Amino acid sequence: MSTPKLTFWGAAGQVTGSMYLLEAAGARVLFDAGLFQGHRAEAAALNANLAFDARRIDAVVVTHAHLDHIGRLPLLVRRGYHGPIYATPATRDLAATMLPDAAQIQESDAAYLARRGKRGPASEPLYTTADALAVQDLIVGLPYRRIHYLRKNLAFEYTDAGHILGSASVDLRVTEGAHRRVVFSGDIGRTGLPIIRDPDPPSGPIDALVIESTYGDRDHESTTASSDRLAEVVRRVAGRGGKILIPAFALGRTQELVYAFHELSRAGRVPPLPIYVDSPLAVDVTTVFRLHPEIFDHREQLISEGHRIFDFPLLRYVRATADSKQLNSLQGPAVIIAGSGMVESGRILHHLANHVGDPRNCVLLVSFQAEHTLGRRMQEGAKQVKIFGELHEARAEVETIAGYSAHADRTGLRDWVRRLGGPIRRAFVVHGEPGPAAAAAGMLREEGVRDVVVPQMGDGFEL
Ligand SMILES: [Zn+2]
Ligand SMILES: [Zn+2]
Repeated sequence: MSTPKLTFWGAAGQVTGSMYLLEAAGARVLFDAGLFQGHRAEAAALNANLAFDARRIDAVVVTHAHLDHIGRLPLLVRRGYHGPIYATPATRDLAATMLPDAAQIQESDAAYLARRGKRGPASEPLYTTADALAVQDLIVGLPYRRIHYLRKNLAFEYTDAGHILGSASVDLRVTEGAHRRVVFSGDIGRTGLPIIRDPDPPSGPIDALVIESTYGDRDHESTTASSDRLAEVVRRVAGRGGKILIPAFALGRTQELVYAFHELSRAGRVPPLPIYVDSPLAVDVTTVFRLHPEIFDHREQLISEGHRIFDFPLLRYVRATADSKQLNSLQGPAVIIAGSGMVESGRILHHLANHVGDPRNCVLLVSFQAEHTLGRRMQEGAKQVKIFGELHEARAEVETIAGYSAHADRTGLRDWVRRLGGPIRRAFVVHGEPGPAAAAAGMLREEGVRDVVVPQMGDGFEL
């Protein structure tokens, strides 16, 4: 019998790459297997370096379908992992669309770099579509609040994290030797987010809490205020005959926007203009949402009244490339929602190239824009933007609505910790840049946690 040990192999001192290894009750269990994202060469090197032998892992437990949590599952399989991968049923179905898409991007990026004669970690795909499909055979769907035994003395259950469809916190118990209860928060959502339910944290005494801290140092605008701003921007831009381009991530933000537009158009708060969701991945992801009404928030009006929340007159889903190109000749005001969220790739670039020169149009940013992205440059007022190697005058208005976030803010994190009930013996702060992580650590100490650690990559702790 040995003391449980927890090692941090990602999202330590940064937001992306979530991956934690727990050795307990004779098993080696990996919690999340996320991609590092950001600066290309750096991220590629981190992603390719697995610090352990994938063949020696006994089980993988994932919290939700964002790629910074599941994006390295195909790599594990490529390196020989063939055990079970646990996920909620919605996460399992979302992974079935997200991972093949991620693999395709890996393959085409690598092919592009190879054509240009570049060598390095990014010129080999991290994994292929075949690896992504192989993951699907290993995923075991496990609903919220159902206890599952990984070993005789090692069990866990999922609770709703309220972050995106299917997102979960993990409540794990080791019942060998000195008993230990370990809770992984996963990404914590917000109360009042459209479609999905509010966070439902585990409760009772905790020996080790691993908690995210993305927005540990700031508070968000409310979602109602964001919806009001959205209506105001659309009315104003449509009034002058312009188009509204909204870069958005395919999973989460797009469905939230569709829901917001559905509510606004039912209430007559936006003019009757066409709204296009121009992204094959977003169309597929929305299909998965339609399959899981059992986990929607049934207190919300559109849902409780039985409306088909992802369909309303004026909303069009665009999948085929030819149909996407048709949008170029669109006359008059319209809303176009397309990926990627930070304007780095995807169909939004084509729409931008077409429309960024016209001052009647508006680029509406509703996602976090990381440094060194085109979205961030536009947010900072760039007068010219380079798209597909060509310079364009940026005359379109650029607006930001900051209140759309699927993460708990500073106040939300504190509320979530209070709802755990405690006491919490020890906390590890992850999934945050140094500033927000330090702020979240301070909050935990104020809430009475004596032992608070912000682990670095590779740090291991006996629990
Ligand atoms: Zn997430
Ligand atoms: Zn995350």
